Amino acid sequence: MVGEYADSPHHRMTYNDGKWSKARFRSFITSALRRASSRWGPKYGAKKAARVGRNQYKCAACASIVPNKEAKVDHIVPVVDPVRGFVSWDEFIQRLFVERDGYQILCQACHAVKSGQEREIRKANRKALCVNPP
Ligand SMILES: [Zn+2]
Repeated sequence: MVGEYADSPHHRMTYNDGKWSKARFRSFITSALRRASSRWGPKYGAKKAARVGRNQYKCAACASIVPNKEAKVDHIVPVVDPVRGFVSWDEFIQRLFVERDGYQILCQACHAVKSGQEREIRKANRKALCVNPP
């Protein structure tokens, strides 16, 4: 093996002929996988299970009843752990494509609260990494 793949396929040096950073490449793959997950059956199963009537879904957190467009399918365990951050594609895929019991339906308000909390944890951990470089 030669060139950019000399070490191993996991330690490549360039992405998109050197035009992209590793972070840009990761977000490219991440959004492709997230798009694919919209066709993942168990996600619909979770939505169906939360349906309580015509265009009515029950929030798993506050029990309010909301219409379809306000009913968010949420990963109970965040796809990317807010404390550890991205670990590997294996783990990312495992956590993205969970079975039905890995999902819950949240109303917009509860979903915003949960995402906000995860964002705060992420931010705090990133700050900690900057203060204490390895
Ligand atoms: Zn709610």
